[in-house]
Amino acid sequence: MKVHVNANCISCGLCVSLCPNVFHITEGGTAGVYSQEVAPELEAQVQEAAGSCPVSAIEAG
Ligand code: SF4
Repeated sequence: MKVHVNANCISCGLCVSLCPNVFHITEGGTAGVYSQEVAPELEAQVQEAAGSCPVSAIEAG
């Protein structure tokens, strides 16, 4: 699975709270990913974060 945060991000921090091994807040203030490649054991967390993002900024698949 690959993951990407698009420009819709409003910096709410939810994805970082749900899945800190994948998401972080970048210097620009919006969320980013440490790696676009998601380890299999983290895929469920990433899917949860993607489904919870209030602006659908997380693209995973
Ligand atoms: S949950 Fe969505 S809006 Fe909130 S920080 Fe993460 S990507 Fe940005």
